[in-house]
Amino acid sequence: MSERIVILGAGESGTGAALLAKQKGFDVFVSDQGQIKDKYKAELQQHAIAFEDGTHTEASILNAQLVIKSPGIPDKAEIVKKIKAANIPVIDEIEFASRYINGKIIAITGTNGKTTTTLLTYHLLKSAGYNVALAGNVGFSMARQITERSFDWYVLEMSSFQLDGTKKFKPEIGILLNITPDHLDRYEYTMQKYIDSKFRLIQQMDASQHFIYYTDDAVIATEVARKNILPNQVKVSLKSDANTRAYFDGEKMRFNLKDSFAIAQSETTLKGPHNLINTMAAVSAAYLAGVKLEAIREGLKTFINAPHRLESVAVIKGVEFVNDSKATNVDSVVYALGSYEKPLIWIAGGVDKGNDYNIIKEDVRKKARALICLGKENDKLKKAFGDVVPVIQETQSVQELVRMALALAKAGDVVLLSPACASFDLFKNYEDRGDQFRKAVLDLKKEAEA
Ligand code: ADP
Repeated sequence: MSERIVILGAGESGTGAALLAKQKGFDVFVSDQGQIKDKYKAELQQHAIAFEDGTHTEASILNAQLVIKSPGIPDKAEIVKKIKAANIPVIDEIEFASRYINGKIIAITGTNGKTTTTLLTYHLLKSAGYNVALAGNVGFSMARQITERSFDWYVLEMSSFQLDGTKKFKPEIGILLNITPDHLDRYEYTMQKYIDSKFRLIQQMDASQHFIYYTDDAVIATEVARKNILPNQVKVSLKSDANTRAYFDGEKMRFNLKDSFAIAQSETTLKGPHNLINTMAAVSAAYLAGVKLEAIREGLKTFINAPHRLESVAVIKGVEFVNDSKATNVDSVVYALGSYEKPLIWIAGGVDKGNDYNIIKEDVRKKARALICLGKENDKLKKAFGDVVPVIQETQSVQELVRMALALAKAGDVVLLSPACASFDLFKNYEDRGDQFRKAVLDLKKEAEA
């Protein structure tokens, strides 16, 4: 009898894992406590893969030899506890998929900047003509893609939840961008557990692989110092005197890899200091993967980032409206504020994840002409910034929001939606918040120009 694999959670990664497991000849069963989307059900049916939704039937799960768990399901879920108690190994889809590849992996993690860096790294390889796949937390299943064909390189965005499900996972190049408190509810509110999760990235790597990391991040630097790190280290720094293998000297990003070269931020399509870090990491990875410098320069010019990340939407009466709806924690707002020299009308608010606003108070004092709170509960924001911002207003309507912002702004200002909070109080998700904001801005622009 063939080995039984049970897949918990049939989203993109679970369905992809099921398809690969079936192709490899396992006895596959998929179980999802919620409702499986029709498009995934259709795929499972088409491949004659058994599944259930709305429940977890223990008898059909606890007889597995291996469980592949969706990263969204926490270890404290009842069914996971029972699986672990039965000594059945639990892994992630990426771990499973990576057992069936010959190509090499570039894996990218960090609290912020994963998607941007992943997309940029992928773009640098792809536009240089590499046979490369894009997968992981960006929304495409790695397992699904390798059922279709094989690749020389896989560029993977890895969340901490995905890293938690890795065992033998061994990237050729690992990138760690930063570690700031986030998702602590999944880590027993213990920062060290979250740090350990991020460092699983390099647990199997040896001296023939590269570990690219942002060394100015105190949490990362401390952890690196504590550890006996085996892979080749490529430190990235924003400090002009850093003299690391990639650093920003105040004018250009300087690289000392096999060759030495420099790139100005004006040669890239990305703005802000955080994107210098992301760019240095992505360029280092692409270079180490063998992409020629000329191709890297070309790729940097043609890269288009995903929406909702410091996305310039429109200029109305000399005021630039920027959608940074993806900034759902305070740290990403630090960088958003740092990306603009001009006065700001800052829009923030939503569901607070235990934010400590102290770290941005000074920046807000220096840069914000006004704060508009876009959330149901705004007391914490008002209290935190009442004595540093001259004007604070609030609204729950996006249409009203953009009008208020335009009325408060002067020509040359930037209106920045960078909420520091999750969006679930007023919107479906951060994309919905950003999409509604973009639409309201574009409508206002049409009206202003009519
Ligand atoms: P992730 O996929 O990790 O959420 P994104 O690339 O989607 O990262 O960016 C999320 C938010 O974090 C955006 O608001 C972006 O401007 C900000 N950001 C991007 N890169 C960094 C970085 N290196 N450090 C801090 N914040 C960043």
